[in-house]
Amino acid sequence: MSLQPIRLFGDPVLVTPAATVIDFDKELRTLVADLTETMLDAPGAGLAAPQIGVPLRVFVWDVDEALGHLINPTLDLSEEIQEGEEGCLSFPDMRYDTPRAFRAVAKGWNMFGEPITVEGTELLARALQHETDHLDGILFIDRLSKADRKSAMKEIRESDWFGIAAASGLTPHIKLSPHDTFGRSL
Ligand code: ZN
Repeated sequence: MSLQPIRLFGDPVLVTPAATVIDFDKELRTLVADLTETMLDAPGAGLAAPQIGVPLRVFVWDVDEALGHLINPTLDLSEEIQEGEEGCLSFPDMRYDTPRAFRAVAKGWNMFGEPITVEGTELLARALQHETDHLDGILFIDRLSKADRKSAMKEIRESDWFGIAAASGLTPHIKLSPHDTFGRSL
């Protein structure tokens, strides 16, 4: 297991659809372990493989003190919507109101290739949707209202971190505020 640098917005891997996992092998289990370790260190409530530069359909979460992981997910969403703020570990210190389905049922596989179903509401449902979006190259700023998206882009352009990744090919490891517990990023 090893801690991996988190890719920041501007890195092309974040807007590239990830590939379906074919081999449920030792390498995949190492990926799940690395994702989990990196998410817990950040700390975040979820992390998808593209965020550590691995273009595969895998993500992990840590919601309500329960760790989980899912591979090759498909989502079934409620029509009922939840409002609330959302952040992303690939956008340090940014939070915006992001509407999401209130309930999500995710189907996929665990790292041993066994089929699993995960059902969640509120934060878990939000995490499942946010992370599945990452696998499709969709970012939370794509889900914002037009006005918020404009503010977010301005905040990104003015941030200390934006452009560093693109300029150097390296990504700084930025820790979120330790006070930010409920509002952990995804
Ligand atoms: Zn994210």
